[in-house]
Amino acid sequence: MICLGIESTAHTFSCAIIEKRGKNGKILSDVRKIYRPPEGEGIHPREASRHHAEHSPQVLSECLEKADVKITDLDLVSYAAGPGLGPCLRIGAVVARSLSSYYGVPVYPVNHALGHIELGKMLTGAKDPLVLLVSGGHTMILAFLGKRWRVFGETLDITLGQLLDQIGRHAGFASPCGNKIEELASKSSNYEPLPYVVKGNDVSFSGLLSATKRIIPKGLEIACFSLQETAFSMIGEAVERALSFTGKKEFLVVGGVAANKRLSEILQSICDRHDCKFFVSPKEYSGDCGSQISWVGLLEASKKAGSKLEDTFVRQSWRLDTVEISY
Ligand code: AMP
Ligand code: MG
Repeated sequence: MICLGIESTAHTFSCAIIEKRGKNGKILSDVRKIYRPPEGEGIHPREASRHHAEHSPQVLSECLEKADVKITDLDLVSYAAGPGLGPCLRIGAVVARSLSSYYGVPVYPVNHALGHIELGKMLTGAKDPLVLLVSGGHTMILAFLGKRWRVFGETLDITLGQLLDQIGRHAGFASPCGNKIEELASKSSNYEPLPYVVKGNDVSFSGLLSATKRIIPKGLEIACFSLQETAFSMIGEAVERALSFTGKKEFLVVGGVAANKRLSEILQSICDRHDCKFFVSPKEYSGDCGSQISWVGLLEASKKAGSKLEDTFVRQSWRLDTVEISY
């Protein structure tokens, strides 16, 4: 089975083709174009969707060419139907619907968060992990039980990706800024105390955001180091509690922030203490990409028929714990 997956929930427009053989998938191509707002500014939904609309034909043809696949070879098309920015989601949905109706291939709307998790599992070989999803749109600790991913803990306000991006933008960088923050943090070891807020299994980052802005005058490297140490320790505490409670023997971190080495270091040491196997999504596939959507499309196609065109929705808000897993 060959599936074209389309991702367009936020800053990234991506098309990818995966061929499923048995339980495994081979990524034949994954082409991305990322919308970059002006320095110091966040994503403007209208501008991002304009970017996606302009680049979609080129990304699609490059994706087919790299995979050496013709549109008529596709067995199905899947697209990220939410959660995400409405104007951006619509571009991916329109491309998927057009291909599906013109070429008569089944179409599958996919939950974006599920894409992060399932591709992470496929690429790392994790079977039944406790999952930490940390990205621009999510900060969630999840475990699979009774056909659903259950949320064990989450952020009460902004996500970890937003926290890093907002500090970066405040300092004048172009979003996304997580890797810039990581680079600056690695140049300091001076810790300035910052608010540490864990409530039960949940975390709250908004106070940390304001306080970090206030210490930037002491040095950007000190601020980035202190920010990472505080935020990642908060996440670590929540993860450790979830590991103790669930007794899971595997732990997987996915989402754009999974690319951060210091975060992995902290989480790895927690897993070591709990005799738990640590997995991290490969850096190339931790951020938003079409492969995540393509792979979930293939998993769903193994158990159910595609959606009718009139059911190919987009949803700005679509919590993962409301999705019943069919495969
Ligand atoms: P996603 O929404 O999954 O594409 O993830 C995007 C988020 O990942 C953005 O908030 C980025 O700033 C963040 N990110 C990317 N690379 C890194 C990194 N090396 N360290 C921390 N955050 C990162
Ligand atoms: Mg994402």
